[in-house]
Amino acid sequence: MVKTYELLINGEWIGKRYDHIDVLNPATQEVMAQVPKVGRVEAAKAVDSAHQALSTWSSFTAQKRGKLLEKWHDLIEDEAELIGKLMTKEQGKPLKETIGEVNYANGFIDWYAEEGKRIYGDIIPSSHPDKRIFVQHQPVGVVAAITPWNFPAAMITRKVAPALAAGCTVVLKPATQTPLTAIKLVELADKAGIPKGVINIITGSSSEIGKTWSEDSRVRKLTFTGSTEVGKILMRDAAETMKKISLELGGHAPVIVMDDADINKAVNGVIQSKFRNAGQTCICANRVYVHESIEQEFIHQLNDEVKKLKVGNGLEEGIDIGPLIDRYAIEKVEHHVSDALKQGAKLQFGGQRVEVGQGHYYQPTVISNVTDDMICMNEETFGPLIPVTTFSSEDEVVQRANHTPYGLASYIFTENIGRAIRLSEGLEYGIIGLNDGAPSTPQAPFGGFKESGLGREGGYYGIEEYLETKYISVGI
Ligand code: ADP
Repeated sequence: MVKTYELLINGEWIGKRYDHIDVLNPATQEVMAQVPKVGRVEAAKAVDSAHQALSTWSSFTAQKRGKLLEKWHDLIEDEAELIGKLMTKEQGKPLKETIGEVNYANGFIDWYAEEGKRIYGDIIPSSHPDKRIFVQHQPVGVVAAITPWNFPAAMITRKVAPALAAGCTVVLKPATQTPLTAIKLVELADKAGIPKGVINIITGSSSEIGKTWSEDSRVRKLTFTGSTEVGKILMRDAAETMKKISLELGGHAPVIVMDDADINKAVNGVIQSKFRNAGQTCICANRVYVHESIEQEFIHQLNDEVKKLKVGNGLEEGIDIGPLIDRYAIEKVEHHVSDALKQGAKLQFGGQRVEVGQGHYYQPTVISNVTDDMICMNEETFGPLIPVTTFSSEDEVVQRANHTPYGLASYIFTENIGRAIRLSEGLEYGIIGLNDGAPSTPQAPFGGFKESGLGREGGYYGIEEYLETKYISVGI
């Protein structure tokens, strides 16, 4: 008997009387659970509930909200392994990564439990002797959060923790493929004593739920992580009621390896960035530009490391790369590889499916002799493919790296400080990993330039997204 998970609206767990959506284990393709399929009515009820809870939650002191967030954090910490296993089953990534993600996700709760106490205002000197200028920040109101399947825990807490710390209440829709981790986190928030209506979670028709929340003028903030395509729909819809929005969308991260780079560091950085979550993250290395003078040595070392990676069911010991999320994901990787090979790229390693049970597994793959017009150099592969190309000058590589509508993450490997600064300043990206393949952390601002989105998540920048600024002009 498959377990049916329930949804939380206004402090009540509901679900029995709805149609259901199957949640598949991507490693086995088995139905591992079901979630309710709700639509406009429940989406509106969730907003009623968040709206009702807003005045009480926003009137709590930051300390009181912080204490409840800390309690939530502690409950998640106690169950990190269990949540990690649940996440591996619904999402596929190896257990060491999912437990790592639970800790990373929990880092946002911990950080914002503190940061909520530091929402300071300003007193600005007035130009009139009989006036005073006060500036204060207030919670923006009800927040709608829509999250993707590639980080089933971190994308929830990166939004919910700063929203709650700021005094906002939340309606949340996790990705249809990975709702179970999200529901588990909300269950623990409920257990921690976060009052009813402060967090509401529903699953079901994405477009109906998105539309209902976009149209509702009581929702004052929309925060979304997902594709640029859906981000644009939501931005258009949110314009009707002029909501504040944060969008964390697609990326196409370049990696630049200069001739003075520590090649070992560069190879490890590329592997760290590329193969996390089997290449299914928006900051994964998508194209590698290596200085022509070190190409052979770099590829040689890269192949040696890539060969060591183990593909398989993420619940098993020693696995580095799990299954891709679904059939479309593996077909996309195959399409990118075959297009590149047809146009003259050279296969260095991989390039095949791996047959393990029913999952969609693909070998970690390296191709060289890649040119800028190949599909993999322009569209997000979202899979374990490393295309390598060469360059000869700094100006050339910056120009080629910037030649994309995206601007989320980029990576530079160099031991030369002047180059490091010039390249960091020249790249049109919100995140630069300078000799670093893993830049994400709760206290730093995560977000993109250009069509990679709007706003920042993490750090004090991340809480500003949930605040309104109020100016009080005082005559005395
Ligand atoms: P991905 O490529 O990561 O699946 P999507 O943008 O399709 O990216 O999905 C990210 C989130 O947006 C998921 O929770 C998904 O259910 C939701 N979503 C998809 N389409 C819409 C839509 N039209 N309106 C609102 N949310 C949507």
